[in-house]
Amino acid sequence: TEVPERVALQLREVTFAYAGQTQNALDGITLDIPAGMHVAILGRTGCGKSTLLQLLTRAWDPRQGQILLNETPLADISEATLRQAISVVPQRVHLFSATLRDNLLLAAPAASDDQLRTVLGQVGLQKLLEDEGLNSWLGEGGRQLSGGELRRLAIARALLHDAPLMLLDEPTEGLDATTESQILELIHHTMREKTVLMVTHRLRGLADLDQIIVMDNGRIIEQGNHAEL
Ligand code: ATP
Ligand code: MG
Repeated sequence: TEVPERVALQLREVTFAYAGQTQNALDGITLDIPAGMHVAILGRTGCGKSTLLQLLTRAWDPRQGQILLNETPLADISEATLRQAISVVPQRVHLFSATLRDNLLLAAPAASDDQLRTVLGQVGLQKLLEDEGLNSWLGEGGRQLSGGELRRLAIARALLHDAPLMLLDEPTEGLDATTESQILELIHHTMREKTVLMVTHRLRGLADLDQIIVMDNGRIIEQGNHAEL
């Protein structure tokens, strides 16, 4: 199947429990997200935010209910197509023991060195280019990254991947306020045409999002835009 240019999402009464758990991590989630909408997902720790994003990548399948991407059930979409259609900034970012270049290329194998350097500049990681440039070794036997640098590396990967659906799990966690607003502006600007779901704890910057969803205990308890809530 072809990778769609724009992605709309529908969730219908989606319920999910992790293996061996009696309590549902998600409990009857119904959502309609038009293509191009930017959505914030808020809620206390453990309420199911990351689980929701993971179901959208088919890391797990719902116990009940259905998830549709452009009206097609997720289960009917090939894994390769899904991977190309979705960019993810996970809550826990994985750094590979490899060069800076290879850590970025896994998101976009065809990217040129110039593109990689541009994106690193956009996310404020040009410092990583100082010593051996894109050949700098990261991870074991090389440079370790701070929490904030790791998050920005993941955002750089997502920007390079350039998929129509972006799932961001706490993308600005661990960043200072100035860097945070720069990164959020970059995300909103470069992803303007894309569908964006962003898990966040921060209340700052929510006015820039089209829709805010508040979760509690696996359910959606509030939904609306900044003015409505
Ligand atoms: P946080 O803000 O702390 O990241 P969250 O809203 O992302 O929280 P989830 O990670 O989605 O919360 O977790 C939802 C519930 O599912 C929690 O009760 C959590 O303990 C449980 N859970 C998460 N991952 C697993 C797993 N792999 N196996 C079993 N239970 C899990
Ligand atoms: Mg989480």
